[in-house]
Amino acid sequence: MVIKINNLKEGLHHYSLEEPVENVGLENPFTDSVKVELNLQKLHNQVVLETSLNLQALFECDRCNEAFLSNLQTDYKIVYLFGESPDDEDESLNVVYLPLDVSEIVLDNDIRDYAMLAIPMKKLCNDECQGLCPSCGKNLNTGSCLCSNNKIDPRWLPLNDLKNKIDNN
Ligand SMILES: [Zn+2]
Ligand SMILES: [Zn+2]
Repeated sequence: MVIKINNLKEGLHHYSLEEPVENVGLENPFTDSVKVELNLQKLHNQVVLETSLNLQALFECDRCNEAFLSNLQTDYKIVYLFGESPDDEDESLNVVYLPLDVSEIVLDNDIRDYAMLAIPMKKLCNDECQGLCPSCGKNLNTGSCLCSNNKIDPRWLPLNDLKNKIDNN
């Protein structure tokens, strides 16, 4: 994904771009297309890019192992300065130096980096996901299993014994 900047007027420009994830070098778990909203501000010695990414990824739920589609959204800002990069350049700042005769900005590397950062540590199909039964492995989102029915709070055991006696009579 590329933005042409050589004939761009100074001022604010907006772009809405969309491309298949493969085109920017993203693969599994990303799927479908990446949508990019860009606010580009061009000044005589710099370009400021404010980027908003929208992606879809196919994850496996950490609790129930079911595949689910997740929408990921992330924003970032990069300042491009025209000219030589100084020797003591601080790489932690989002500043990139561009040759004076550069004609375009290639977005693919940054899109890949920020897309990877947008992958959550914990992947849940749903915040309420019930997960799998530790005894029989049944997906508890689809209903309860027999083992969970048999789990009786020990405080109720005396009452349960009484109930069994009554039932057996
Ligand atoms: Zn789940
Ligand atoms: Zn079970």
